[in-house]
Amino acid sequence: MIAFEQMQTAIAALAASFAAPPSEQISLAQAVGRITACPVVAKLAIPRFNVSAMDGYALHSRSTAQQRMVIGQAVAGLAYSGDCPVDDCVRIFTGAAVPDGYDSVVMQENVAHTAPTEQAAYITINQAFKPGANIRLQGEELMPGDVLLAKGHIIQASDLMSLAAAGVHTLAVHGKIVVGVLSCGDELCDIGQPLGAEQIVDCNRIGLMAMLHTLPVTVIDYGIAVDDPIALKALLSQARSECDVLISSAGVSVGDYDYMQSVVAELGQVHQYKVAMKPGKPFVLGQLGSMLYFGLPGNPVSSFIGFTQLVAPALWQRCGLAATLQPFTFKAQLLASTAKKPGRMDFQRALITLSADASPVWQVTPVGKGQDSHRIVALSQANGLMILPAESTDKVAGDWVDVQLFSVHAPKPLGSED
Ligand code: AMP
Ligand code: MG
Repeated sequence: MIAFEQMQTAIAALAASFAAPPSEQISLAQAVGRITACPVVAKLAIPRFNVSAMDGYALHSRSTAQQRMVIGQAVAGLAYSGDCPVDDCVRIFTGAAVPDGYDSVVMQENVAHTAPTEQAAYITINQAFKPGANIRLQGEELMPGDVLLAKGHIIQASDLMSLAAAGVHTLAVHGKIVVGVLSCGDELCDIGQPLGAEQIVDCNRIGLMAMLHTLPVTVIDYGIAVDDPIALKALLSQARSECDVLISSAGVSVGDYDYMQSVVAELGQVHQYKVAMKPGKPFVLGQLGSMLYFGLPGNPVSSFIGFTQLVAPALWQRCGLAATLQPFTFKAQLLASTAKKPGRMDFQRALITLSADASPVWQVTPVGKGQDSHRIVALSQANGLMILPAESTDKVAGDWVDVQLFSVHAPKPLGSED
């Protein structure tokens, strides 16, 4: 059994031995969650031209005239293109291009309207203003040719607005890799199918596939495999010709019906087996030719934690990130004591909240009736994990521990109806 950190290192080294998927050109609308294959460069300046930040009057700061004639107007989408005499001004609205001859905008709240004559309207400026006031300068944020996103950036919804503003409508991202998902076990039955008396519902596959859908991968669902080495060999051979990565759950322990490890060893290589983490000790890192293989434990909580902690970072790397993307970890203060035996790194299901006082701190409470790996219901009461290093012992209220959020939503306690 190797330490959790050693398993992370072994996985990262193996994932790094594969070339990143070749790039492809995609449209902005398909870009969220994809990884940029080269730097993304702005085609347009942001702002595109000198823009008024306010409704008001565009004018020149060189003139000291308090009263000015309003000689025209500039509206968003409809510029003013006439002359700009230095002592006059142009009515302007937010988002309109500032006329080239003027350098400042005075807010409409800071002028008085002088009664218009038959020929013209006038304003009187009643507040001092600085040159350049209320103007967003062309290219203030970005000029054409500037790099907006680095290579290896995971595109977020929040990136799309600046990409669109910068005139980027297609971009080069790494192609998707193909990931197969397989559940193993004679006792498993597909969701919604008639359950035999000795059967349980396969819950791992749907959870794993849902988590995969947040990655830039194409998923192949291999369904449920029976505990039979010949059938497993055939399935793995098929997967090897179709997938870049195969993730299976169950059948990786050392029971009489746990064949995954021996089948992988026969068809390819088992690089690592067993990691000092709890839950999730039986974990196979293997390879069948150019297909990476991850064998997760059967217990749903173990496979969830094994996926989030070890598999997902490797997948991001395999998809084209230069380094692994580890879950974001921060400190929270324990609100209750929790048991911990030294030996393995512990991932406890927990509810992470902010204290309600004036200087809020992150707080964490372990959830569920114990932390055994078959206790699946606590996953719905938790919004994160508490991580206790291998060597640590029991923790008490007030201790600071590492935590990770897996959901932004704080669930109500078990049994709450609303
Ligand atoms: P195994 O690793 O095959 O010994 O499985 C460990 C435990 O996880 C057993 O109790 C299995 O019934 C259970 N298990 C395995 N696969 C699944 C699955 N896909 N969904 C729910 N439970 C599972
Ligand atoms: Mg089994």
